[in-house]
Amino acid sequence: MRVAILSAEAVPYSKTGGLADVAGALPKALKQIGIDSFLITPCYLQTKGEHLWHVAIDDLWVEWRGKPYKAKAFYSEANGSPTFLIDAPEFFHRDSIYGYNEDYERFAFFNHTALALIKRLGSPPDIVHLNDWHTGFASVEIAHLRYWDSYWRNTRTVFSIHNLAYQGGFGSGELWQMGFGSEFEQNHFTFNGYASALKAGLSASDMLSTVSNRYGYEIQQSENGYGLDWLLRMRSDNLIGITNGVDYDVWNPETDENLRAHYNYQNLDGKIDCKKDLLEQFMLPIDLERPVFAIISRLTAQKGIELIQQVAGEIINTGAYFVALGSGDSSYENFFQQLRDYAPNQVGVFKGYNEDLAHKIEAGADIFLMPSRFEPCGLNQMYSLRYGTIPIVRAVGGLDDTIQNFDRVTGTGNGFKFQEFQADKFLEKIYEAIFTYAEKDSWRRMQINGMLEDNSWQNAARKYVALYNLTLGN
Ligand code: ADP
Repeated sequence: MRVAILSAEAVPYSKTGGLADVAGALPKALKQIGIDSFLITPCYLQTKGEHLWHVAIDDLWVEWRGKPYKAKAFYSEANGSPTFLIDAPEFFHRDSIYGYNEDYERFAFFNHTALALIKRLGSPPDIVHLNDWHTGFASVEIAHLRYWDSYWRNTRTVFSIHNLAYQGGFGSGELWQMGFGSEFEQNHFTFNGYASALKAGLSASDMLSTVSNRYGYEIQQSENGYGLDWLLRMRSDNLIGITNGVDYDVWNPETDENLRAHYNYQNLDGKIDCKKDLLEQFMLPIDLERPVFAIISRLTAQKGIELIQQVAGEIINTGAYFVALGSGDSSYENFFQQLRDYAPNQVGVFKGYNEDLAHKIEAGADIFLMPSRFEPCGLNQMYSLRYGTIPIVRAVGGLDDTIQNFDRVTGTGNGFKFQEFQADKFLEKIYEAIFTYAEKDSWRRMQINGMLEDNSWQNAARKYVALYNLTLGN
């Protein structure tokens, strides 16, 4: 089976969120179980790993808006499997990866060029695996091409929803300009009077998946469907949930190069050194008895930062530490800055994106907070489990699927979760965590329960292969 994976971001080349972790790790895991797969992603100004590239194709001609355009493709295996990076400076050499009015066009171009590249590479893929709105264009293009270009006749598309909230909307008038001239193509995009790349992917792809079972259910309900729940309900026979894996080559306290000391479930001594290191990083006084609460997050409403704002004072009042790493909405950024000014001996804040610090926090913290409004899968709670850091989460999406409440009597469970989006419910769990933290044996039991879990990509990759087979009718 030959699989081409398209993603707007992928570790280690580029990353703004969990999509990059998935797109970096899945092809490697597929390769490890013998699937012939390759990844295609744009080459941004920010793309890392230059030393591992070479030019694979320097004359990738495509027609764009009626004119010929010459792109390039680099080749790299920096993520552990074959990757092609589409180089088109006009579209991708910008100060940031997303956030431009013409993002829809940048990614439509990426899709169009990626399909030209696939064809240039030779034998047709059985599956083109698309991810989020940035790749919805390709599903329509393939659905269309299939009828008149024999190269694509037997290729099937799988579209994975990593976050339904981002839809890639734009004016329908642009469709024609970008080569989607037929009614067949336009119908896939049309949504409430404009064009949606996400809707196109959901409508034109042969099979759909999302990144947890629970999220797969939630997005079929009107309150979480962003106006597309009807389409997802219509296609529910072709929609399955596969929980993301963790790349334990990258997220593993036994080998993590960012940590001052290493540890595993049999000996957690190294975690204490990591806690000390973390407190030093934030220039906080060293008191190892007090718990460290942490968040690492895009600072957006999705992540429930509002609830954190409501409970932060209470956390500080218990004497605990609180560290935050993130960037996003300025009101949230300002809040964390003010919290730091209010309690400089207990609060550490890093505004921005910092991969190394994210690892140090996972290792050095005791309790990780994820009170999300919605969470398709969530990765940090799974990283926390492996690092012996106890997650407190809201029971939504992948958080609900991966975290079970700890039971002090039976010693089962790996964290704490609450249902309603309410500060008092969140606080109950925070106090329960602080209480359990003081019972060393219970805490250790809970840490070990989490650290022993196997959320590896190998499991998830096998499920993707089953999904590909289902899509191909095998
Ligand atoms: P989402 O994709 O919605 O942002 P996920 O939990 O699925 O949420 O994935 C977030 C990923 O991004 C994790 O790998 C997390 O460690 C990382 N991350 C988020 N914010 C930062 C930051 N400020 N610095 C470093 N890593 C971050």
